[in-house]
Amino acid sequence: MKILIADDEPHNRLLMEKILGPYGTCDLTVTGEEAVDACELALTDQEPYDLICLDIMMPEMDGQEALTRIRDLERTHGIDESHEAVIFMVTALNTEEQVVKAFFHGGCTDYIAKPVQRGALLEKLHQYSLLPRADQ
Ligand SMILES: [Mg+2]
Repeated sequence: MKILIADDEPHNRLLMEKILGPYGTCDLTVTGEEAVDACELALTDQEPYDLICLDIMMPEMDGQEALTRIRDLERTHGIDESHEAVIFMVTALNTEEQVVKAFFHGGCTDYIAKPVQRGALLEKLHQYSLLPRADQ
């Protein structure tokens, strides 16, 4: 599984890499713009990300804008909705309004609340079939 983690806080970036690292290759970016660039490169190489975790609050380009641009890039590269990346918005408690916006306007798959909990994140991977369940 190919994973992209975008978060401006080093601690969160590394925490998510530690949780997700055993399940795939993780690329890390600090800004939304870098995340969009990484996605574009991956799409051009025909090796798109399976999972993208976007922090909502990032300087310059935030997760919301990055989400919209990444979905646009997928369309530009001929990826239809059934093959698009699973995108989790990573949110602090005070960004509830942003989460709603991400769902209804941006096309995110789901969200994860900070502080990110290993069990909750892995449960989401199962939920979106990125990891098989033990009983399947
Ligand atoms: Mg942030």
